[in-house]
Amino acid sequence: MTARLLDGKKVAQGIREDVAKKTEELKSVGLKPGLTVVLVGDDPASKVYVGQKEKACREVGFKSDLLELSGATTQEELLEVIGRLNGDPSVHGILVQLPLPRRIDPDAVLEAIDPAKDVDGFHPVNVGHLVAGIPCMVPCTPLGVVRMLESYGIDLAGKHAVIVGRSAIVGKPMAHLLLAKDCTVTICHSRTPDLASFTRQADLLVAAVGRPRLITADMVKPGAVVVDVGINRLETGLVGDVDFEAVREVAGWVTPVPGGVGPLTIAMLLENTLTAAIRSRR
Ligand code: NAP
Repeated sequence: MTARLLDGKKVAQGIREDVAKKTEELKSVGLKPGLTVVLVGDDPASKVYVGQKEKACREVGFKSDLLELSGATTQEELLEVIGRLNGDPSVHGILVQLPLPRRIDPDAVLEAIDPAKDVDGFHPVNVGHLVAGIPCMVPCTPLGVVRMLESYGIDLAGKHAVIVGRSAIVGKPMAHLLLAKDCTVTICHSRTPDLASFTRQADLLVAAVGRPRLITADMVKPGAVVVDVGINRLETGLVGDVDFEAVREVAGWVTPVPGGVGPLTIAMLLENTLTAAIRSRR
């Protein structure tokens, strides 16, 4: 049996069209969603990500601003910039591109963002609300995973979800979202002994590790839904955390890399910004 593909690009396109339509409708009430991305320094990968986000914003009709700050920017200067953006009513979403230069404490910066404008969902207030089950800004990547599974009609209730990776950006919020969807959730990490003994129990396996092809076919339960969040740049090109070619012969559903989770992340950023703009009027 060859697994069916979870086509993230297609799902993301549908979400983008929906956001564009709603943005057009908001014109009648004089509201134009605005996202400001703050980039400190000139990390080449960050520049690529920021460029993709800006392009996506423009395409759906948002006001999109990029603040490029020099790598020598101090933490105080950055906090001042964020304070100004917090007070600007035309800015509904603020995204500080990570990683920041080492001198700057990312926690201090993320905590300075108004939680209502925290479209990345990294502020402790949003993290706490997610854990408590209170509506909030949810991190884009795990939110995108849930949206993709739902759009394919994959029933999550009662499924044993095994998540490999416990980062604040992906693994942990993923666990809370799946718990809220009535999954039984197991979280694995680098100190988990015999990883395969856990992954083989998964009805839904989410790999968010950053290790090329860590998940091999023998680690996957036949018929499982396999979601590959990993993005690993090898000399031969981009690969995920899942050995795609082998795993697709065992799994029921699988995401490709690229074209799986990645496009959903940007689509969810657009949706979060739209939500922040609408809530700003309440
Ligand atoms: P991260 O912060 O480095 O976290 C990696 C997690 O994997 C950690 O919890 C780590 O465990 C665990 N881990 C490392 N080696 C392991 C092993 N051998 N066995 C089991 N667990 C292991 O990474 P992240 O930010 O979550 O990102 C994960 C991957 O997703 C990366 O490839 C990243 O590029 C990609 N990503 C993609 C998107 C997208 O839009 N598609 C968005 C975000 C991230 P410890 O906690 O014990 O160290």
